[in-house]
Amino acid sequence: MGGCCRRVGDSISFPRLDGPAGRPTYNGNVARTASGATPLDSIKGLHLHARVPLSEYTRFGIGGPADLLAETNEPESFCAALCLLREQAIPHVVLGGGTNLVVADEGFPGVVLRYTADYIRHHGRQVHCAAGAELMELVNYTVDAGLEGLQTLMGIPGWVGAAIYGNAGAYGHAIEEVVRRVRYCDGQQIHQISREECGFQYRESIFKRRKEWIILDAELELEEGDRAALRKTADEILEVRNQKFPPTMRCAGSIFKNLYLKDLPAAVATQVPPSVVREGKIPAAWFLEQVGAKDRWEGRIHVAPYHANLVYNTGGGTAAELCRMIQSLKREVQIRFGIQMEEEVQYVGFPAN
Ligand SMILES: Cc1cc2nc3c(=O)[nH]c(=O)nc-3n(C[C@H](O)[C@H](O)[C@H](O)COP(=O)(O)OP(=O)(O)OC[C@H]3O[C@@H](n4cnc5c(N)ncnc54)[C@H](O)[C@@H]3O)c2cc1C
Repeated sequence: MGGCCRRVGDSISFPRLDGPAGRPTYNGNVARTASGATPLDSIKGLHLHARVPLSEYTRFGIGGPADLLAETNEPESFCAALCLLREQAIPHVVLGGGTNLVVADEGFPGVVLRYTADYIRHHGRQVHCAAGAELMELVNYTVDAGLEGLQTLMGIPGWVGAAIYGNAGAYGHAIEEVVRRVRYCDGQQIHQISREECGFQYRESIFKRRKEWIILDAELELEEGDRAALRKTADEILEVRNQKFPPTMRCAGSIFKNLYLKDLPAAVATQVPPSVVREGKIPAAWFLEQVGAKDRWEGRIHVAPYHANLVYNTGGGTAAELCRMIQSLKREVQIRFGIQMEEEVQYVGFPAN
């Protein structure tokens, strides 16, 4: 655990976020000050890009520009940037592969950070990997090493950091099962926490509740397994997933989280056919089907005719259209069943981000 903060140079003063409730107003252009500098210029190893359209960084292909995009694969540079942004109260957000994001059409008024370190190594059953490694690379790596525990996550796009943040999972398993320790930077220091301290739940972790804690890397522990059998499982799952979510589909997988049967009001629980309940959860798609969500359109946003929880951009769709679709689906389920569905997707550039 080491300190990572650097002092901010005196030469650049930076306007603070100072907005009323609602969409933040940011009285300055984070990309360049009048002198042509940015507060992040002095950090070595940080690659800066001004006014980058975030649609290029999201699987939905939606999202306006970020004032500044800052990328690095060096942990020191990444933490230095985080510390500086926090110290100067400059709005910032961290992106991974952008596969679970709805970004506002107006973009993000601040700095978008990407930590691109992507190493994966193993020693026996212990696997170390950086937050910027692709989850699918990690799955392939462990399967090839004959290590069991991640094979059912094959085909989930995105990076390892976000997979831990959202406790990604599929087919009854989630990444929490193999996580031993996670290292993160909170904008002041680097810390390391155990799996228990990560507070994992279904599509939840402490990192969702403490958004300023940014994952740098993780130590995983898997079991020894039969390489051929693991490969077979992973390949079969990938084939099924590629049919459901063609690799070019502009989507985020499921929009809404599934719901726990035990949390539903009795009057709703009795309406759910037992055959749809899996591991104590009811697919959000079941509720969406009851309100006729399948094959619905909102501008260029479409609900898949074969899956009511799969919403995608057919091309040229906007965040406004996508949000209207999400809100109307939520509202209709609320009216029909009196329950509040919760998004699995994360929002960037909207109020309260
Ligand atoms: C076709 C498709 C299928 C999918 N299927 C599944 C599935 O079966 N199961 C499942 O769980 N998910 C699924 N997803 C959702 C998505 O792939 C996962 O949520 C994935 O983990 C997101 O990774 P990402 O790198 O793209 O994150 P991003 O979309 O870039 O970010 C997601 C969130 O993570 C935060 N974040 C990113 N990096 C870090 C970090 N280092 N530290 C802290 N926070 C961070 C971001 O701020 C953001 O809030 C699917 C998505 C698609 C497009």
